[in-house]
Amino acid sequence: MKIVEHVSLTSLTTFKVGGDARYVLACESVEDIQGALAFIRERSLSWYVLGGGSNVLASDSGYEGVILQLKNTEVTFSSTDTARESCVVVVGAGVSWDALVSKTVAEGLWGLENLAGIPGSVGAAPVQNIGAYGADVSDTLLYVDAFDTKTDALVRLTKDECVFGYRNSLFKEDPAYIIVRVAFQLSKIPTPRIQYADLLALREQGRVLDTSLQIAEAVREVRSKKFPDLHITGTAGSFFKNPTISSEAFSLLKAQYPELPGFPSSEDASVIKIPLGWILDHVLNLRGYTKGQVRLFEKQALVLVAEHGATTEEINAFAKEVETKVFSATGIKIEREVRML
Ligand code: NAP
Repeated sequence: MKIVEHVSLTSLTTFKVGGDARYVLACESVEDIQGALAFIRERSLSWYVLGGGSNVLASDSGYEGVILQLKNTEVTFSSTDTARESCVVVVGAGVSWDALVSKTVAEGLWGLENLAGIPGSVGAAPVQNIGAYGADVSDTLLYVDAFDTKTDALVRLTKDECVFGYRNSLFKEDPAYIIVRVAFQLSKIPTPRIQYADLLALREQGRVLDTSLQIAEAVREVRSKKFPDLHITGTAGSFFKNPTISSEAFSLLKAQYPELPGFPSSEDASVIKIPLGWILDHVLNLRGYTKGQVRLFEKQALVLVAEHGATTEEINAFAKEVETKVFSATGIKIEREVRML
């Protein structure tokens, strides 16, 4: 287990803001996790597991506890079903999510291609049930091996036990689990999902989307035109969740804004998921809205961007202003997708 002290959270998060983390402990094995917990308990410190840091807003005053980073990077493929129609892929929490997508589509496997280009690590993916273009991690996830810090044991949680929801899971509600590895069941039989407008538009332009590799490449291309490059720009991607509202509330808003898009929620068809980016753009005219070093990205208003020198206090004040504006105009209380550290 590697221990480093006083590490700037600007270097550990894609927002590139925040003070110092008191300790950063890198774990490659369950024994390392046990060692890290002993270190934490001896000093009565708080702890937080950080993957790629792409969904976190760190405090300007830093973090006085321990940042845990999972560094195990094993990837194993095995065909288990007798018909050999699927493949189980078991992946260490420290593997980069997008590297995993590349590996699986290169093997001709189906299931992760729509999730290409999402930043972060495999261990972080189930926490908020990452999803894009009509696919969620929970669609193909088989089980999660996690270290339960309440019992100090490694446990295997089935997909049902992970209690997945829209950008939500047991791990978000109960941070006592440290995800060690994740298993996916991927199909060898083509299962293309190209119903989202961005992908349909590409196909209409003549793009061939017959293989999972081709779809993954198309998704990366669409994303690169819409989202800023996290390696260069300070951002955590979508700052807010797309809200869901009752169908009655949707009808009222639709009467006011006839172009407003809405999609029945996959969890409950009686509620409608609406693209917050559309409201920020077309109702509030906030695309590109800037205050000091903080702004809503000009190509996708759901994305909050922090230029060099921005503080977390500024970002928070800006986000609160956006939340208030959305509530005043639509009556919708929006929630943050980004987590506070
Ligand atoms: P988008 O494709 O413009 O979609 C905006 C909203 O409309 C999302 O709530 C999306 O649902 C919904 N939507 C669009 N077409 C749909 C369809 N055919 N059927 C059902 N729902 C539909 O969104 P974007 O901001 O450009 O992002 C592209 C994709 O990346 C989206 O799927 C978005 O959710 C995803 N994304 C995920 C994360 C994350 O996991 N943290 C972060 C950024 C973006 P869904 O949200 O269910 O797709």
